[in-house]
Amino acid sequence: MERLAIKTNHRTRSLGVAFGGCTLPGADAPLFTVPAGQMSLGLGIHGEPGISEHPLPTASELAELLVSRLLADKPDGAGTRVVAIVNGLGTVKYDELFLLFGKIEKLLDAAGLTVVDPECGELVTSLDMSGLSLTLLWLDEELERYWAAPADTPAFRKGNLAPRARRELAAADETAAEEAEQATTAAADLGRQAAAVFAQVRDVVVDHEEELGNLDAIAGDGDHGIGMRRGVDAAVAAAEQSVAAGASVGRVLTAAGEAWSERAGGTSGALWGSAVIAAGLALGNRDSYSGQDAAAAVTAFVDAITELGKAEPGDKTMVDALLPFRETFLGALDGGAPLRDALAAAAAAAQTAADRTADLRPLKGRARPLAEKSLGHPDPGAVSFALISERIARHLASVRAKPEPATPDTASGAGNGAQRND
Ligand code: ADP
Ligand code: MG
Repeated sequence: MERLAIKTNHRTRSLGVAFGGCTLPGADAPLFTVPAGQMSLGLGIHGEPGISEHPLPTASELAELLVSRLLADKPDGAGTRVVAIVNGLGTVKYDELFLLFGKIEKLLDAAGLTVVDPECGELVTSLDMSGLSLTLLWLDEELERYWAAPADTPAFRKGNLAPRARRELAAADETAAEEAEQATTAAADLGRQAAAVFAQVRDVVVDHEEELGNLDAIAGDGDHGIGMRRGVDAAVAAAEQSVAAGASVGRVLTAAGEAWSERAGGTSGALWGSAVIAAGLALGNRDSYSGQDAAAAVTAFVDAITELGKAEPGDKTMVDALLPFRETFLGALDGGAPLRDALAAAAAAAQTAADRTADLRPLKGRARPLAEKSLGHPDPGAVSFALISERIARHLASVRAKPEPATPDTASGAGNGAQRND
């Protein structure tokens, strides 16, 4: 690193000019002045005045002056490939910088040099200084490789290097896409069934959009129907896209969950999005799923919401419907019930619990300040969860189970059909 910096320094030449000085914040006079019609040559970037004064040149004359001075001082071992940087020092307009750059480039070309990835703009300024500088860096193979590389720093950005978070997300996307490519036909078929579940979720949300909005308007901000609709529409689109790429259940759910939280807005969107992602991560890319897997997915779904929202039972949120749902579901599976029966029982428990939230005062979320108004009406998020779980249960019950491959995972005889990808 140090070696590279030293080498770059040895191979770099800069020369700046100022048509006026800069004024430090709080100072009542500029650090230096340049007489009218004059130009100061060889200024310092920290506001130091130039080393000599010249009559104000034309742009062509200035280009000639800067290029000839730098070429006269070219470093030992200089090749023919150079980086040219025209840097504005604070108050020179970009069109003037570009005009000058055009002239400089021609002169460098005429001198037999190839300009590599030039920069023209305000890269290092000196407050409000009216001035500019030309820098030439004579490249070798190693430096050219680094100069051409994308960069992302607070002061200098170049190329397509995304910020770290976006890079990591992109990497995760790539991994997920690879996973999708590696999904077997059976896994992709389950992915398709998962997407069909989202289509059902959208239908029930559309059917109740207005009602959910009205319920949220009693003590909240009235957007629960719209928010759920936006989220689920995006989730369905993302799920369908994943299916087209042959994705597994895990990939379908994570893509749908990401889209949901991104598009829905509002508290419920963030909660639903992360819950769907968590369920997707729990289910992963498999050729078949057992009741155990379904239990793990439901647990992950509920945990994601309680971890993110931190609502307690009785706070009058969707958690009041989620917890009875999970308890009933896990209890039924434990008792040997087939998945579809466990789901139907859990959905009924969620519905009863959602109705009961009418007796509660909201202690979390936007409805809190209007707690009294909310009394007598159920919590919108609990109601929408109950409606959705009921619709999924009904949908899965109507899908005829496909014959299962006899793997140890699925041969438990618990009656778990291949569509257990809720
Ligand atoms: P917003 O409150 O941002 O307008 P919505 O209207 O779409 O979002 O959703 C409101 C619902 O979100 C509430 O009815 C409640 O069920 C749920 N909710 C709000 N805060 C929380 C929380 N901290 N934990 C779980 N659920 C919550
Ligand atoms: Mg709302």
